[in-house]
Amino acid sequence: MSTWDIAAALARQVDRVAAAAEAAGRAADEVTLAVATKSVDVARTLETVAAGARVLCESRVQEIVAKAPALEVLDAPPQVHLIGPLQSNKINAALRHVACVETVHTTSLAAALGARCVRDGRTLDVLVQVNVSGEPQKSGVSPDEALDLALEVAATDGLRLRGLMTIGRNSPVEAEVRAGYARLRALRDEVVAQGAQGATELSMGMSGDLEWAVAEGATIVRVGTAIVGPRG
Ligand SMILES: *Cc1c(COP(=O)(O)O)cnc(C)c1O
Repeated sequence: MSTWDIAAALARQVDRVAAAAEAAGRAADEVTLAVATKSVDVARTLETVAAGARVLCESRVQEIVAKAPALEVLDAPPQVHLIGPLQSNKINAALRHVACVETVHTTSLAAALGARCVRDGRTLDVLVQVNVSGEPQKSGVSPDEALDLALEVAATDGLRLRGLMTIGRNSPVEAEVRAGYARLRALRDEVVAQGAQGATELSMGMSGDLEWAVAEGATIVRVGTAIVGPRG
């Protein structure tokens, strides 16, 4: 029996994001708090939504499919963002349930997603995932290749490029982590300057470092453990 109070934890993180925005001279409503409910069971995921979460992040398409029946019957279903890898055999399932794929990091994935959307007569919001830290275990396009990929995604029929996403360096050193986030912001500015005017989002920052991400311009922070409790 868990004693973790999701509603209280969510309220604390809403306050935390607002404080981070204020400290950065930004309005609180410039930053969306997306709750990472990956590996959280359906009951606790519903509890998170009942507490006010409007955007959920999930790492696995299978888990999104499993939770969809419970979420999609709600009066106000949350948006679900995919923040993990997308295999081509899972594209149809993802498209049925996902409002945004945050992890587009290759031209082949973009082409496959776009083609499927065109066939279905729809568009899909996507972010290009960039590996700003260069750590080999992290996925994402390299910063050097990010501009080209983003402009290609922006030109892909069926896709709507909304911005860039990264997983920050796992480091306690503020300057190191913020340098990566600043790099993502500079890339985003370049993508917009080169014509992808809708690509303004910056998805960066998690439980451990969201203040640094908000200070560098995050428009979406993805917070898991600080809201749903430690993953078991
Ligand atoms: C799990 C996860 C998060 C949330 O991490 P926490 O440290 O639990 O806040 C954010 N982004 C991605 C891509 C994740 O996989």
